[in-house]
Amino acid sequence: MPATKERKPRRPTSPKKRAAEVLELLQQQQGVPVWYQRYDPTTELVFTILSQHTSDVNSERAGHKLKATFSSWDAVADADPALVAEAVKSAGLSKQKVPRIQETLKRVREFTGDYDLTFLREMPLADAKAWLRALPGVGPKTTAIVLSFALGLPAMAVDVHIHRVTGRLGIIGPKVNADKAHDILEAMLPEDDIYGFHVALIAHGREVCKALRPLCGDCVLRDACPGRRE
Ligand code: SF4
Repeated sequence: MPATKERKPRRPTSPKKRAAEVLELLQQQQGVPVWYQRYDPTTELVFTILSQHTSDVNSERAGHKLKATFSSWDAVADADPALVAEAVKSAGLSKQKVPRIQETLKRVREFTGDYDLTFLREMPLADAKAWLRALPGVGPKTTAIVLSFALGLPAMAVDVHIHRVTGRLGIIGPKVNADKAHDILEAMLPEDDIYGFHVALIAHGREVCKALRPLCGDCVLRDACPGRRE
């Protein structure tokens, strides 16, 4: 029988402490990201609806085609849905996404008089989340992306990579689904660390802690990871 490699016993760590430790190790490796506004909030909202159940490449292509095809958000909101569907076809699922986008734009227009969502910055975070969540097809991930990436607010967006990596690391429990993980992770971190945690974990999930074959031997988190594979 070949000798089995002994693992050092791991000291028990609370999920909150493990999250802090993980962030520190990943930022030592990756650096600390500087927040920047990727798109204005309405564009981010529409692009994120387009990104549901498709790749970033396809949804970005669809979003840019939509903006190039129509002269304004008014024009998108009031257009023949078939024309909008044609513009965003690379994102797929246009039967669901087009009505969501048009209805969302109409509700934003009705509420704001234009398409300026920066008023969300002035609201308590929970109220800003609730306002976005009331829009059609807008769940916790889309909400957190708009608040975090477009408005710089401390909302934790959890995608498939972050859900997988935090599960393997024991930061969230095995029964916590991605929707529930948003609030759980957000509550574990200081507000100033939420954006950095999101960025660090996505990069780690894409490059190291991959879905099928995590590269545990090359992982800076291996000593802190209960899910590591030898
Ligand atoms: S040790 Fe393995 S499972 Fe744990 S975070 Fe690193 S790559 Fe993922």
